[in-house]
Amino acid sequence: MNIHEYQAKAILKEYGAPVSRGIPAFTPDEAEKAAHELGGPVWVVKSQIHAGGRGKGKFKELPADAKGGVRVVKSVQDVKASAQEMLGNTLVTIQTGEAGKQVNRLYIEEGAAIDKEFYLSMLIDRVTSRVAFVVSTEGGMDIEDVAHSTPEKIVTFSVDPATGIQPLHGRKVAKALNLSGDLAKQAEALVKQLYAAFTDKDMAMLEINPLVVTNDGKLKVLDAKVSFDSNAIYRHPEVAALRDETEEDAKEIEASKYDLSYIALDGSIGCMVNGAGLAMATMDIIKLYGAEPANFLDVGGGATKERVTAAFKIITADPAVKGILVNIFGGIMRCDVIADGVIAAVKEVGLKVPLVVRLEGTNVEAGKKLISESGLNVIAADDLDDAAQKIVKAVKEAA
Ligand code: ADP
Ligand code: MG
Repeated sequence: MNIHEYQAKAILKEYGAPVSRGIPAFTPDEAEKAAHELGGPVWVVKSQIHAGGRGKGKFKELPADAKGGVRVVKSVQDVKASAQEMLGNTLVTIQTGEAGKQVNRLYIEEGAAIDKEFYLSMLIDRVTSRVAFVVSTEGGMDIEDVAHSTPEKIVTFSVDPATGIQPLHGRKVAKALNLSGDLAKQAEALVKQLYAAFTDKDMAMLEINPLVVTNDGKLKVLDAKVSFDSNAIYRHPEVAALRDETEEDAKEIEASKYDLSYIALDGSIGCMVNGAGLAMATMDIIKLYGAEPANFLDVGGGATKERVTAAFKIITADPAVKGILVNIFGGIMRCDVIADGVIAAVKEVGLKVPLVVRLEGTNVEAGKKLISESGLNVIAADDLDDAAQKIVKAVKEAA
């Protein structure tokens, strides 16, 4: 689960991390009020969307030479004018995709006088099963280029959970950022605070870009992007309350109501599968035969007819889906239940694209019989390979 920058900064502040003063705003009037409260003389008006690259982003509705989604301004009137331009409009950044994201919230922050911009992030390193730090002197808006052309400027290390965060980790960060004296001390303190926030709150990723040194020699968290481990959210109701559903894929929200593991993807073949491993294999084999999956969907082991129906509806409602592959191995899940669910869903919403069904396992004969007697236009398949080839072919022919 992701949260907004201003929410992330509020959490980091609780742990003592140095962030600028700022106030969220939902309307131009609130932005104006916030600007008065902060006092100036320099303000930054920041679009709050669940994506980075806002500074270099472009608004769809504004002329091409209009400023981006993060603006440094020098008067209260300009705060308000920027708020008017941003709110309700669609910001397109390198992370949003072409569709962009509508800006519904702003963060009005006091402007910092920046001397240097660094990069610092933390994430779970799955290879070492540890929390890893990624640090670079080359922070700011071009970090992707740094990773690509000068990877030696990026320093990484991980923290042994048995010993936890140690002064040596802080010193490593200070050294990687060429900091000494008081700034090194500030970096060491910050590393401790960030690690505490990260582990206490079950974060999955924390990215500070930029982490800056101000002209008066202070280290400051100027941007913060945080995501949480969804499986641990139940332990943090205060984090769950920060969820902003307008930032999420409507299909994914619908799926979560039915306890379906669903992730929307960019391809054209909708997949309904039981078991995460089989779902991954199904996506792989679709790619192998030259097409792309439109989603990851695991209906789970003990899915009911209602859940299967809901899953099928979510897939068919997606206009990007040009064909559907149902691939079920009935273990705990029974094939006849899947067949029932698919038939019920098709009766309700219709079927406008080719559908390949591959059933195997418990009650497979009953499941196949239900489908063949349903009168649905279903292409039957014997195994995974056969099923993938058939759906890719059917979609190509229909195109
Ligand atoms: P994004 O990463 O989405 O582009 P940032 O929050 O990193 O958004 O802002 C982009 C740039 O704007 C930063 O790299 C920094 O140079 C500048 N910036 C952001 N916040 C402030 C601030 N409070 N004061 C001064 N400059 C800022
Ligand atoms: Mg940034």
